[in-house]
Amino acid sequence: MDKPIIIGGGFSAWVASILQDGQVPIYTPSLKLSKNLHHNLIRRRELEINKLFIHPYAKSVGTLNFARCNVNMHDRVILGGNSTIWGGFINLKSMPKHILYKIENSNVSINKLNQIYSSRYATNEGSIYQLRGLDNSILDCSKYIKKFYDYYLDKLYVTETGIKLQFISTLGGNTLEIDTSGKVYLCIGLIQLLDVLSRSNLIANDSIIELCEFKSEFKMNKFTNKLPDPRDEVVIRYGLGAAIKHLTGIKKDGGILKLLDKFNICIDQIYTWEKNQASFKLRGNCIEREINDSDINFGKSIHYCNLTINGMRVNQHLANISKNLIGIGMPFINQEEPGPISNDILIHAIKVINED
Ligand SMILES: Cc1cc2nc3c(=O)[nH]c(=O)nc-3n(C[C@H](O)[C@H](O)[C@H](O)COP(=O)(O)OP(=O)(O)OC[C@H]3O[C@@H](n4cnc5c(N)ncnc54)[C@H](O)[C@@H]3O)c2cc1C
Repeated sequence: MDKPIIIGGGFSAWVASILQDGQVPIYTPSLKLSKNLHHNLIRRRELEINKLFIHPYAKSVGTLNFARCNVNMHDRVILGGNSTIWGGFINLKSMPKHILYKIENSNVSINKLNQIYSSRYATNEGSIYQLRGLDNSILDCSKYIKKFYDYYLDKLYVTETGIKLQFISTLGGNTLEIDTSGKVYLCIGLIQLLDVLSRSNLIANDSIIELCEFKSEFKMNKFTNKLPDPRDEVVIRYGLGAAIKHLTGIKKDGGILKLLDKFNICIDQIYTWEKNQASFKLRGNCIEREINDSDINFGKSIHYCNLTINGMRVNQHLANISKNLIGIGMPFINQEEPGPISNDILIHAIKVINED
């Protein structure tokens, strides 16, 4: 059997890599993707997410059109993916100890949230931590995925001997084909997963695609106000300076932002135990929202998960294509508790990688 392959360059790919001691080749585009790479690619500004001070800005480029979806979902095709702009929050309640050692051995520190800076963050869920790099800035996986092949996965097929992967080089548009009898870990995020499945004819026209998320909102509050019981809602509280840092992507501490943290004003990121559901239909190259739930603003939590295709979990959908095709990331997990989702991704990755 051939060696496994990881496709993607974000948190899920980093997790898949450290769980296999960095011994698995990674295929992912290095910089932002251009639609000139391939004649079928379109740019989807409605799926883009960037922060003022984080460069280069990433584009959403793919083959499916999401323009009529009325959602808040994101696609960041760039080395590091969302981890270049995320909060690094993780809930370590059910995390095995040996995984914490693996994370720390990878030069990533695990910081208890309400101990980092007492007036900067707080939470009512004591097991929420923040992952930080050696320079003490929030973990950015692009700084940890150093060795990779600069390719974008175009299509995949099942062959008699395994899986055929067709890539496009982001440095000049050359193509690369790999025939492998080994495991393929797809760590490419929800939007690009749907793009790859549809380009590869591995999802039928008129398929119903469903997702869910815990409801979430941001509210202004006073830092000294009592936090609610986590059984009612999970809250991550940002001091004013920390909130501005997260919103704009400023990486450095100190200066005026530290002063702002002294004000008794904060922003609460609130996750409730109530769930939102969203239903879509694939029509040709368009993803359309089903009329019955289109008034719900879906995706606000940024932790949308549990992708099903015609009622079947996407994990099973991939296994039916090939038992060697394995997904890691938000579409493949069903979040059990509101709050960070990186812990669910990590625990699911441990399970599927150990099963092999
Ligand atoms: C602003 C923001 C803040 C967030 N904060 C948190 C947080 O604090 N805690 C938390 O738990 N979650 C957070 N999330 C959710 C977060 O996105 C996930 O936890 C996690 O980053 C998902 O990682 P991923 O690798 O699965 O996907 P992504 O981050 O989307 O990475 C996908 C990677 O695959 C690559 N790729 C895509 N298509 C292809 C292709 N065809 N071929 C090859 N490579 C491809 C991309 O370039 C990218 O590198 C946040 C999300 C956002 C948007």
